Amino acid sequence: MSRGTLIDLIYLIAATTFVLALKGLGSPKRARVGNLIAAFGMILAVGATFFKLNDQGQHLRHIPLILLAMAIGTIVAVPAARFMRFTAMPQLVAIFNGVGGGAAALVSITEFIHIKSTHPATYVTLEVLLGVLIGTVSFSGSAIAYAKLQELMTGRPITYPGQQIINALFAVAALALIVTILVTSSSMLLWVLLIVAFVLGIIFVLPIGGADVPVLISLLNAFTGLAVAASGFTLGNNLLIVAGTLVGASGILLTRMMSAAMGRSLSNVLFSAFGSVVTASGDAARDDGRTVRSGTPDDVGVLLAYSNKVVIVPGYGLAVAQAQHVVRELADLLESKGVEVSYAIHPVAGRMPGHMNVLLAEANIPYEKLKEMDEANSELATADVALVVGANDTVNPAAKNDPHSPIYGMPIINAGDAQNIVFLKRSMRPGFAGIENDLLFDPKTVLLFGDAKDTLSKLVTAVKAS
Ligand code: NDP
Repeated sequence: MSRGTLIDLIYLIAATTFVLALKGLGSPKRARVGNLIAAFGMILAVGATFFKLNDQGQHLRHIPLILLAMAIGTIVAVPAARFMRFTAMPQLVAIFNGVGGGAAALVSITEFIHIKSTHPATYVTLEVLLGVLIGTVSFSGSAIAYAKLQELMTGRPITYPGQQIINALFAVAALALIVTILVTSSSMLLWVLLIVAFVLGIIFVLPIGGADVPVLISLLNAFTGLAVAASGFTLGNNLLIVAGTLVGASGILLTRMMSAAMGRSLSNVLFSAFGSVVTASGDAARDDGRTVRSGTPDDVGVLLAYSNKVVIVPGYGLAVAQAQHVVRELADLLESKGVEVSYAIHPVAGRMPGHMNVLLAEANIPYEKLKEMDEANSELATADVALVVGANDTVNPAAKNDPHSPIYGMPIINAGDAQNIVFLKRSMRPGFAGIENDLLFDPKTVLLFGDAKDTLSKLVTAVKAS
């Protein structure tokens, strides 16, 4: 077997592992194995590339430099991934994704310069310029997404008059530049394209609110995939084309699924500056005179201990409080007293897809106790208590009852169907959507104000005592 055939075979195996890995990542149970399969495939692919000959039959050059770059990447990335708090995962993905887009853009720029210096009369091809455009938009957009999520800048949408027109003008300018460069092969215009793409990435992300940024990151991920596929065409590397297209396609699918789970269109997520207005007050009482009922851990402890069925509804606040271990402790304790406990998982609870599944898995909560929304909703009517831990929008009945609500149409966990509803939150502040939750004012609702982890610890003590 020739060297070329062997490398193609290894690339085929690697491409197959990427598809299998994606399949694995579709379920929390198999996600870890999926990741390992992808890593194995990537090691095979990178290893084989060192032995690949180019079109002129030359060996890979600058191997020490490549190894140095890989060593630097490893030294930076491994600790970053290991020590990142779980709530900070979206920004880690953002920065890794941005670096990928930037790398794809650099490959395209290098190729442009190479073509111009070796064959000045040759016209530059479309994929080189698309690589520059998409890779750079992904790079600068991901950098702003990172800054928003890391709270280096405000997470609220940044808007100004005529914003969408300005954004559209930049997008049109970028496309016009690509056409002009294709016709003229102008090197100078390449740098203009680079600047326009860089600015476009920034202004595209500015009006997107912090909690919608994970949806955007999924889209930017898809962009990076496409930029990588463009690099694959540029370099004549089939595996890059396959891997980039897989990332592009799965990123777009994930983006659509996340938008659908929020009951919103992708254009609403990208262009509506959702989350810019906070309409609820921070007070415990509203102007219409309705008040909320706040309880004590001891009262709620007794209620839980004498229940038959408790459904825990986790949300973003559970992740913020890092309360996954103590929630398990409470569930174990209740089960030891004969209480049936399950978890109702909303697809967009938290700030990224599967956030709650991964968080609860970290505390070794068995998967079979995690009920997806439809199954959970069918069980809630028979539950004695819905224990809502740091969730708000995902249980807000306005999504069903109020056509004027910004979350109208979003499927929700019907916590209100339970006999009693207990909310664990710190204040009357709203969730990400910035809207008041009528369920907090329901006569069946009791609020336990405080950090979820502290309150859950107090509940553990109270249940033990009852
Ligand atoms: P929400 O943002 O609606 O509510 C979170 C609640 O947690 C708040 O009411 C907050 O109240 C409370 N909280 C915060 N910190 C703590 C703490 N330390 N202890 C106790 N409570 C705390 O979260 P949900 O999970 O219900 O909804 C997710 C939202 O994010 C939805 O609007 C969804 O559309 C959006 N989203 C989700 C994505 C995903 O993929 N998962 C992607 C994009 C958007 P208080 O401040 O009073 O404590």
